[in-house]
Formats: sequence, C-alpha cells, structure tokens
Amino acid sequence: MKRALVLGAGGFIGSHLVKRLKQEGYWVRGVDLKNPEYSPTHADEFIVGDLQDVMVVAKVIDLGLDEVYQLAADMGGAGYIFTGDNDAQVMHNSALINLHVAHECSKKGVGKVFYSSSACVYPERNQMDPNNPKCGEDSVYPADPDSEYGWEKLFSERLYFSFSRNTGLNVKVARFHNIYGPEGAWNNGKEKAPAAICRKVAESAENGVVDIWGDGKQTRSFLYIDDCLDAVRSLMKGEFSGPVNIGSEEMIAINDFVKLVCDVSGKNVRINNIEGPTGVRGRSSDNRLIEEKLGWKPNYSLREGITKTYNWVASQSKKTVTV
Ligand code: NAD
Repeated sequence: MKRALVLGAGGFIGSHLVKRLKQEGYWVRGVDLKNPEYSPTHADEFIVGDLQDVMVVAKVIDLGLDEVYQLAADMGGAGYIFTGDNDAQVMHNSALINLHVAHECSKKGVGKVFYSSSACVYPERNQMDPNNPKCGEDSVYPADPDSEYGWEKLFSERLYFSFSRNTGLNVKVARFHNIYGPEGAWNNGKEKAPAAICRKVAESAENGVVDIWGDGKQTRSFLYIDDCLDAVRSLMKGEFSGPVNIGSEEMIAINDFVKLVCDVSGKNVRINNIEGPTGVRGRSSDNRLIEEKLGWKPNYSLREGITKTYNWVASQSKKTVTV
C-alpha cells in the first residue's frame, strides 16, 4: 500500500485530497494546526501540529513515504491577502513551513513532493485588462506579484526546484487558480470570492441587496474542487514537474458571477458595488501547457460547481442562524 502525507489536511483542498487518496487505496497521514472543520478527516492518522516547528516536520516526514502533498499555508481571500495587515505572518509562516518541508523530504528520500503554488505569482502588469489577462506559465518573470502571498509562493517554487536540481528530489509544482467547492472557508474572514458571494446571497432577503467589492467588472475564473484533485493526481502520476496552471478558462466578471449565484439560488438580489480589496483587474487560467502535458481539462462548468457550492454554503448558513 502506498503511503502519502498531506500537509494542510485540515484545510479545504487538503481535506478533500485526503478523501481522494483514501478512495484510491492509499494509507494517509494528515497534518494541520486544526482538524477539518466541516466533516471528520478520512486520514488513517491525523496529527495536529505546527509545521513552522522543525521538530514537528522531522517527525511527520518519516522514512518510506511515497508521496508528500504540501498544501499548508497561511492564506485567505482578498480580505486577508490584499489588505497588507497579514503580510508578515503570511510570509513567515508559509516560508518556514516550506523551508523545513523541502529539506526534510530531501533528507528522508521521499518519493515525490507536490507543492501548491498559486496564480498570485503572476505579474500585476499582465492582469490590468479584465478582458485579456495573461497567465501563461512562462510569463511569471520578470516577477511582480501583487501580494506578499504571491512572492512567498514564487520563492517556495524556486526552493523546491532548487532541491530537485541539487538533491534529486522529485518535485511537482502546480499554480492553483481560485479553487472552490463545499467544505471551504465561508464565514471566518479567510473565505474567497465564490464562498463569500454564495454566503451573501444565501443570507440576503428575497429582494435584498448584496455589497460586492470593486466595480464588479474585474474578471476571474474558478475551478471546482473535484477537477482540481483530478489535475493534481494526474500531475503526480506523470513525468512532468511543472510549474503548471491548474484552473479553469471559463472567465467571468464578478458582477456576472453574482448574477449566476442569484440565478442558482432563485433569489432576485440587487448588487451594490462598494470599495474593497479586489486584487488584479483580470485573471484566468491559461491551460495550454496542462492540456499539452497531461491532457487534462475541467469537467465541471461553473454553473454545475457553483450549484453544489451554493447549496452547501446555504445549508451551513441556515445551521448558524438556527443554532
Ligand atoms: P486552507 O486555508 O483551507 O488550507 C491551508 C491549511 O494550512 C489550513 O488548514 C491551515 O490551518 C494550515 N496551516 C497553516 N499554517 C500551518 C502551520 N504552521 N502548521 C500546520 N498547518 C498549517 O487553504 P486551501 O484553499 O485548502 O489551500 C491549500 C493550498 O493551496 C495552500 O497552499 C494555498 O496557498 C494553495 N492555493 C489555494 C487556492 C484556492 O483557491 N483555494 C488558490 C491558490 C493556491
């Protein structure tokens, strides 16, 4: 039986990944600062620990691990990443985790390491036009991410590839573009646009008003969690190391996204665009490389994925209100 370690297994993508690996027959160890919030972990062993502590990292990365998935990071949506208030913590926490994990994986001879980077590595200058953002993998340099979160991701990509070159560590790096789905942060200040908008609409009255940050013309694409996991697993199985985008090319303006959520909810809600942290003007995945190297494409349309996500957020919100 293959042994996998998922770091960040108490988080959104990590907890779903643990489930996927179990379905595929792996023995799985999960590690996080906290247990998954919305359903019990499926991991065979779950260790609550702080990966900033080198002793914890040395303990959880033991000999004979076939695969390590490094998803632990200090992250959140625009309200967390783009205000500047959390910059020192984001950089310090995530960089320490990656420094320890890369070193320990190399020392212990781990089979393969997956590192989750982000679309936030791409330079701001290529994402000023909401209708024509450029996020091809090779457009990342000269570097100019618009957040410290993005700079840390870029540093850590380079860190893992350095270990690959100098110690032969088998590294896989993906740049996730806005992954969403059930069981992600939706109301704790770390929620990202899809969950936040689903919550606002779910909690609005039938003919209510929702406040949306920015002018609503900023564009994004969103990838449903199951598609993300298919791509991660495909990357781990092949020869290609990346870095590669894992995202959707179904780009949509934020106000149109809100209308889609309203449509799914059956509510007739008015949009009130207000000032707030928004990030770049346009961003969408460029999937040419992943299609060429892995033959991967998303299966879920935005409407399908958002229907599942809206229903989950609405059920959570109902529980909170009635408790
Ligand atoms: P998440 O916040 O739900 O999960 C991250 C987990 O890391 C959290 O459970 C957190 O407790 C844990 N963590 C943070 N610091 C830790 C520490 N010191 N020790 C142990 N655990 C620690 O986020 P997610 O959406 O599941 O994202 C997973 C990974 O994918 C992250 O690296 C994130 O940067 C990356 N990513 C996600 C998206 C997205 O759209 N969700 C986009 C780009 C990149």
